[in-house]
Amino acid sequence: MAKTHAVVLIEGDGIGPEVIGASRRVIEAAGVSVAWKVHYAGAEAFEKHGAVLPAATIEALREHRCALKGPTGTPIGGGHTSVNVQIRQQLNLYAAVRPVRSIDGIDTRYKDVEIVIVRENTEGLYSGIEHQIIPGVVESLKIVTEAACTRIAEFGFAYAREHQRKSVTVFHKANILKMADGLFLKCSRAVREKSFKDIEYKELIIDNGCMQLVRDPSRFDVLVLDNFYGDIVSDLCAGLVGGLGVVPGANFGDGIAVFESVHGSAPDIAGKGLANPLAAIMSGVMMLNYLGETAAAGRIKGAYNAVLAARDPALRTRDIGGNAGTQAFTDAVIARLKG
Ligand code: ATP
Repeated sequence: MAKTHAVVLIEGDGIGPEVIGASRRVIEAAGVSVAWKVHYAGAEAFEKHGAVLPAATIEALREHRCALKGPTGTPIGGGHTSVNVQIRQQLNLYAAVRPVRSIDGIDTRYKDVEIVIVRENTEGLYSGIEHQIIPGVVESLKIVTEAACTRIAEFGFAYAREHQRKSVTVFHKANILKMADGLFLKCSRAVREKSFKDIEYKELIIDNGCMQLVRDPSRFDVLVLDNFYGDIVSDLCAGLVGGLGVVPGANFGDGIAVFESVHGSAPDIAGKGLANPLAAIMSGVMMLNYLGETAAAGRIKGAYNAVLAARDPALRTRDIGGNAGTQAFTDAVIARLKG
């Protein structure tokens, strides 16, 4: 009998319920048996439970150790700390992995993009330690520890080896942040020296790295980045392959993983049935691979690739040049899966 997987399902805010609903439908259509444990985070959680990250949600994540999560909105310039940052810190989900790939049928300026972003997820500027020294002067601390830098470097190199990747590139600003980014580099070099000499290793100052990325992304393979740079470069890389609607992601800790797209809650299109669910569906595929459901993951991937490769505007969402809504694209993937 097929194994039933317990998975925490967090729909999140904005387009979250639409895209996570689509991903769930596709996973179920592929015949994978999942016991969804529905929990809340973000604005909806605040309305229902009076907290943006209820204790019950964290407890469920600790218990079941695998989640499919939608985006959660974060107020700008005030309000609560990002729910994502809280989840990642509380559960020690120290590595974000975002595969950024060219997809046949999604035309962009570039071909053959095959980048995997590995982002440190727990510290750096996103430690969220800020205060006002005197009126008109604030201080934001960038916390960098040898332990976290070593851990993310080990994760990045191990990922590269496991996935037969040739090179790891670290983006940094150690010319200015000599201590903070200097430590990140020192740890990356030490990890490479100790255990990963078979993998090519490069360092690029981040401004140059961004310029090189948009000139010729095919030069890059695995990128290892601190929290802040990883956040920004993830969106830049999404733009190389068709935008935020097409890039999945996962946050890994030890024996625990939360799968979520790179994109945010997209309030401008929320509730209109327009969001591209592909990133959420691809995040679901990453989750199925993690759960050992590799056959189902492969079939879903084959189905959405076939739908996109057909280049039918009626079967693709607006962000990638079509006129389909969330549901029409999802239906097409499911029809292909079953056909
Ligand atoms: P947040 O602050 O919540 O992380 P963000 O700054 O990353 O948000 P998004 O909410 O991801 O921004 O939206 C950025 C732009 O990309 C918006 O115009 C949005 O409509 C678009 N977008 C994001 N995700 C999708 C999607 N799945 N389908 C279509 N468009 C999307």
